Amino acid sequence: MTVTVRFAPSPTGRIHIGNARTALFNWLFAMNNKGRFIQRFDDTDIARSKQEFADSILYDLHWLGIFPDATEYQSRRVDIYDAAVERLKAARVLYACYETPEELDLRRKVRRTRGLPPVYGREALTLTPEQVAEYQSDGRKPHWRFLLPNFTSDPLQPERTEVHWNDLVRGEETVDLASLSDPVLVREDGTYLYTLPSVVDDIEMGVTHVIRGDDHVTNTGVQIALFQALEAEPPVFGHHNLLTTVSGEGLSKRTGALSIESLRGDGIEPMAVASLAVLVGTSENVAAAHDLAELASHFDPAATSKSAAKFDPDELFVLNRTLMHHMPFAEARDRLIVLGISGDRAEPFWLAVRGNLDRLADAVVWWRIVDQGPQEPAEFSGEDRDFLHQAFDLLPEEPWNGTVWKDWTGKIREATGRKGKALFMPLRLALTGQPSGPELADLLPLLGREGTMARRP
Ligand code: GLU
Repeated sequence: MTVTVRFAPSPTGRIHIGNARTALFNWLFAMNNKGRFIQRFDDTDIARSKQEFADSILYDLHWLGIFPDATEYQSRRVDIYDAAVERLKAARVLYACYETPEELDLRRKVRRTRGLPPVYGREALTLTPEQVAEYQSDGRKPHWRFLLPNFTSDPLQPERTEVHWNDLVRGEETVDLASLSDPVLVREDGTYLYTLPSVVDDIEMGVTHVIRGDDHVTNTGVQIALFQALEAEPPVFGHHNLLTTVSGEGLSKRTGALSIESLRGDGIEPMAVASLAVLVGTSENVAAAHDLAELASHFDPAATSKSAAKFDPDELFVLNRTLMHHMPFAEARDRLIVLGISGDRAEPFWLAVRGNLDRLADAVVWWRIVDQGPQEPAEFSGEDRDFLHQAFDLLPEEPWNGTVWKDWTGKIREATGRKGKALFMPLRLALTGQPSGPELADLLPLLGREGTMARRP
């Protein structure tokens, strides 16, 4: 059977790095198993779901290197869910309830004060036909609950009923169905909550592995019961830990914090995001992988920790610098052209500056320095100015070879007696206007004799 996974966000906001973790866990799992990846939008909440968010999620996934084999929208599949509802009703495991949220709230409070778990007490099952008729004549519409299989013969006497599965990430898992309320599957207005459409789609789309955040562990107990009620074999489940900030805060699509869009805007490379999103909170070292194939070779869902994966966004910059440092010119070329960096000097320029970049776009700063000269000329003491005049007079004639920097500074050392920082810092400041930066031995050939002499203070 072809391994089939899905990434199923609701399109109610931009995805963040935590959502990227889920998407990538699925994508890498599919890569490692020659499987299929379905992009499924859980957009049954029509009030909050927006096409523009679905589009932006696809854009963000492409940016990360994820190209789904199929894209589905739940809002277009309501007939299929309606058919499943009929099957559940026929099997007498879906029942109508008429309570208002206030009534339910009150009941929960009463149960709590009696020391009972605040689960739904299945009162709707005890309604007489007259009471139902009265609700209906009052204009109340029912919502529909799934009768969890947690009793022998009397649903009003639930008993401990364990659902077990062997979780891809967490190992043996158990949920007791008696500890849960019968979930509402269909709202008063006939719209669907997430629980049923998800199961129906997983069946219909041949999903073999459901990999998602561990906030869904309890849902899985319920959903396994639903798979069984629909006479389908449940898929394999895997629940990964969620990402939190260093202070332990969760991420939210609504706030936009650490959204893929904002990270892209900050100049973070997709592979820095992907490497951190996948490797943090696992037993693997968080190191920058060059591409998703390399990341896939480090990916093992079972090596994921069970506790929350705390991460510091600054780690993204560390990974970004590593990626810049090793990025071959062939990979940077087109992006540099867009930044106005092209021509014969583009390649040696890239090799000279990449080790100093936090972000690729910062190459522009160095290109300006190389091309036009220091943006803010440095101030020199009289002594340093004299030194520099002497030094520039010793600049070798062209043609230059690969040792021009060494030859030049050798002559300067001999003539002035200066060495170390006293020799290099004034030269660096004169040539670049900056106290630190790429190796001057690499920059000098880019300036040429004329460009260098133009920097004589
Ligand atoms: N729409 C659900 C969510 O975003 C999907 C969970 C699942 O993968 O089943 O949490």
